[in-house]
Amino acid sequence: MAVYKSKGIVLRSIRYGEADRILDLYTLDVGLISAIAKGIRRTKSRFGARLEPLSCVDFMAYQGRTLHTVTQAEVLRSFHGVREDLARFEAAAGMVRTVRALSGGDEADRRVFNLLYHGLDSLENRESGFGTVEAAFGLKLSMLAGYAPQLDSCMGCGVAPEETEGRIYFAPNLGGVLCAECRMESADTFPIPPEVLDRLRALLRSPIRDVPTDELLGESVRRIVRSHVIAHAPGNLLLDPTTPGARRPA
Ligand SMILES: [Zn+2]
Repeated sequence: MAVYKSKGIVLRSIRYGEADRILDLYTLDVGLISAIAKGIRRTKSRFGARLEPLSCVDFMAYQGRTLHTVTQAEVLRSFHGVREDLARFEAAAGMVRTVRALSGGDEADRRVFNLLYHGLDSLENRESGFGTVEAAFGLKLSMLAGYAPQLDSCMGCGVAPEETEGRIYFAPNLGGVLCAECRMESADTFPIPPEVLDRLRALLRSPIRDVPTDELLGESVRRIVRSHVIAHAPGNLLLDPTTPGARRPA
């Protein structure tokens, strides 16, 4: 493959040998890649960027047998404010895990790159509601990956949550909600309060920069979206097995 130029967001950056770094990047044009940046840690490195995790870079590279080799990189956005704050970083780490879980190899999807960029931007530019941003990101990425959760009607009988008097449950493995009756036949479910369901629906609809800043439902929506992502991730064993819906290693 010839030398190419693209933009990428650094998902992981680890030291390798004396002066090199091995990187995972989600790129605009070639999707998720692993790459080596040789000599980047030398003082007189020709790289303009240190390639820290979460930074968005303009880079040039060529594809080797297993790894791409990055030959040049310049920082477009460092997302320093996200990396340096624990609560923001935790939400960003959750977004990165979601990208790894749901994005299909080196199939490029510019919408995934853009969503990740705007998600990081939203984390950097707000003072609260980080868990809600992570949840909104997970919902939107699920939608792009073809796994949008069904929240408007019971997966079993089709009844709308508003039309039933019983509790509503979320079934991660089915990817949607169940009414109390249909829930009886399904093993892996947990109740979802009406205000949490409303919040999830609103998050699916609104742009990621507009998600609410209140912390009230943040943990609830984050937990539900994580369980949904894990249940639909081909690589779900890499994710936290304590979250509901996770399949445990055999
Ligand atoms: Zn039902």
